[in-house]
Amino acid sequence: MRYIDPHIHMISRTTDDYQRMAYAQCVAISEPAFWAGFDRGSAAGFHDYFRHLTEVEPKRAAQFHIQHYCWLCINAKEAENVSLAREVIALIPQFLSRPNVLGIGEIGLNKNTRNEAIVFQEHLDLAARTNELILIHTPHLEDKYKGTRMIIDMLQNDRRIRPERVCIDHVEEHTVRLALEGGYWCAMTLYPTTKCTPARAADIIERYGTERIMVNSAGDWGKSDPLAVPEFIQEMKRRGHSEEVIRRIVYDNPLSFWRQANNWQEPAWAQTPAAEVAAAPAPANGSPLPASRPAAVRT
Ligand SMILES: [Zn+2]
Repeated sequence: MRYIDPHIHMISRTTDDYQRMAYAQCVAISEPAFWAGFDRGSAAGFHDYFRHLTEVEPKRAAQFHIQHYCWLCINAKEAENVSLAREVIALIPQFLSRPNVLGIGEIGLNKNTRNEAIVFQEHLDLAARTNELILIHTPHLEDKYKGTRMIIDMLQNDRRIRPERVCIDHVEEHTVRLALEGGYWCAMTLYPTTKCTPARAADIIERYGTERIMVNSAGDWGKSDPLAVPEFIQEMKRRGHSEEVIRRIVYDNPLSFWRQANNWQEPAWAQTPAAEVAAAPAPANGSPLPASRPAAVRT
């Protein structure tokens, strides 16, 4: 089944990961701006990073016929330094018209501090002024519920922000309802340690349905799995969910969210409905044949 991984930090992954994702029928990814594994010392470091996200990584992905999109910001982990954050935010507009940019993200909170909240709101202001989509990181573990509440309060305080143009990421059992009831899109991160497992994500889908929800691997510097979305697909199949239901979560929903982006140009792979690809002749055991692999990895 073709799928999209809407949150994966490919700068931290090897080219072999791209190849395995292509074999698993990944057609597109989006890479939010985040921490570099260390705190950067200057705005110039972010300028180079934004060039990496908009120039280098799309070419690396294209070798495997995977379309690469990205989001720009200074992440919450480095937002304690408000003056550096302001310098970085001032750099962002010059990159917003680049073709693979989907919007501002992943902004949010890490430790729920006052400085993080200031920088979050200044990113919201930029997104509102430029009418960009927003991707939001919510804190982990014990900080998650309080941080998600704080984030939603700040979103609601800015009347210019439209919920359908925002995705709240890393939701779990105790925060998914907050995001969905606010009218936002939401995403579950399938992560071996601090976040949601594929089985927990399947449980959440069974409880809350498939509207405005997606899954991602958030593959990054930590121990993480760039094939977590295919693993979720397998878990959903094992439970007897239909191809249509699974496809909505791993393909249709991220595509629908992204289609609102200012720079969106419908790519060729999205013009063939995924349903048609999946409807290729199936073998006698009923499991559908895989769709054709990208030419770059066939040889
Ligand atoms: Zn991330």
